[in-house]
Amino acid sequence: MWQRGAVTDSAPLDVDLALLGGGGAASLLLAALDRHGVRDLRIAVVDPVRRRGQDRTWAFWGHPDDDLDPLLSASWQQVEVATAARRRVLDLTPLRYAMLRSGPVYDRAAVAERRLDVTRIVAPADTLTDDGTRVVIRVGDGQTVRAGWVLDSRPRPPARAGRTTWLQHFRGWWLEADRPTFDAARAVLMDFRTPQPPRGVSFGYVLPVSDRDALVEYTEFSPVLLTDAGYDSALAGYRDLLGLDPARLRVREVENGVIPMTDAPFPARPSPRVVRLGTAGGATRPSTGFTFSAMYRQADQVARALAAGRPPVPAAAYPRRHRWMDAVALRALDRGGVGGPEFFDRLFDRNPAERVLRFLDGVTTPAEEVAIMNSTRLLPMIAATAGDAAHRVRDRLRPTRPASAVPPAVVGDPLGSEPGAGGAPV
Ligand SMILES: Cc1cc2nc3c(=O)[nH]c(=O)nc-3n(C[C@H](O)[C@H](O)[C@H](O)COP(=O)(O)OP(=O)(O)OC[C@H]3O[C@@H](n4cnc5c(N)ncnc54)[C@H](O)[C@@H]3O)c2cc1C
Repeated sequence: MWQRGAVTDSAPLDVDLALLGGGGAASLLLAALDRHGVRDLRIAVVDPVRRRGQDRTWAFWGHPDDDLDPLLSASWQQVEVATAARRRVLDLTPLRYAMLRSGPVYDRAAVAERRLDVTRIVAPADTLTDDGTRVVIRVGDGQTVRAGWVLDSRPRPPARAGRTTWLQHFRGWWLEADRPTFDAARAVLMDFRTPQPPRGVSFGYVLPVSDRDALVEYTEFSPVLLTDAGYDSALAGYRDLLGLDPARLRVREVENGVIPMTDAPFPARPSPRVVRLGTAGGATRPSTGFTFSAMYRQADQVARALAAGRPPVPAAAYPRRHRWMDAVALRALDRGGVGGPEFFDRLFDRNPAERVLRFLDGVTTPAEEVAIMNSTRLLPMIAATAGDAAHRVRDRLRPTRPASAVPPAVVGDPLGSEPGAGGAPV
């Protein structure tokens, strides 16, 4: 279905820029194009779904920012990292940890879309043919778009299977308490006191937006998903660990998600005029699943390039050496050489919080990265480095193994079966 633009079934639509996928990466890009005053481009967005409302909550860190800060639900200067042995309070200055719900981002993108006079096509993009000067896009409703450049953020599996393939999978409850319960001045970044899975890492976290309202999540980094009941029981266990009284809480919303954590390649430039963005373009950090900061950074780079009349090609989401370090860290965690809680505890114990967070965003200097590497346990990391090198050699010698797609999140009966949903205590 064409929503804007004078297009008929038979006439292809000619644009300068086609955005395939209109989710997180595309929304940030539309906002950036508007912010940088790009006005003369013909732009189309192709997505079978028009994203609206609160379908995810982004947590990320960074410097306070005039563009994003008005949209935030909350931000914290202090965060807590907890293990069974200790609870560490980290001062993030000059950074801050922030919570951004998807609704304001999609709303901001919709405003940008109107200002940029974007043509919205509510249908799936199917095939792309890139002849090096323009790309022909066949759209699921039978239409054709011809674009000078394509920015493609449609979800897709990596080009081949990774040496380590984990998932970050989680369930969160937006909790409302009937009295002041949460410390709104401080978020819990990672709380490793949760029971650890046999293969993988688990942690809980708390993002309070007021003293009565918070997003409380249970997260696992591991190869397989839990069942619906498994997430509920893990989350109820974490709520109890926090000492929250279920009789005084109500679940307002439930958030589920699955994010890839793998050293498998996500090619960012599959053909001359096609650039991949978002998770599909490698913006998801393999060792943490954090994606937002890289998407935001790349959106800004693309918009600046277009405003200056240059090709819309951002820098790689993460430097190559960071991807290598992540491959080694994932391997060490997966093969049991390093325990997850211990790994993250040592990072925060032996480095300023700000350095660890900038490292996780891929923006540290090599000298800082040496300091980070030195804070991990040496022997398991050497073993993982050797194992990674041997695996790379084997990969070169054998046929490429295809990667499987990221499975959909396990969704229970939203606000039906979850304990406490719809007003009953959790
Ligand atoms: C619930 C959840 C919470 C998350 N929280 C965080 C967080 O706190 N911090 C963080 O850094 N990262 C987080 N992430 C990871 C990441 O930031 C998000 O997944 C982000 O939305 C990725 O943006 P994207 O544009 O790559 O993908 P999406 O936002 O998923 O957008 C992809 C779009 O492609 C569209 N599409 C699919 N098929 C087609 C097709 N054939 N043609 C055209 N369009 C198509 C979809 O409809 C969708 O709109 C979270 C992810 C989830 C799922």
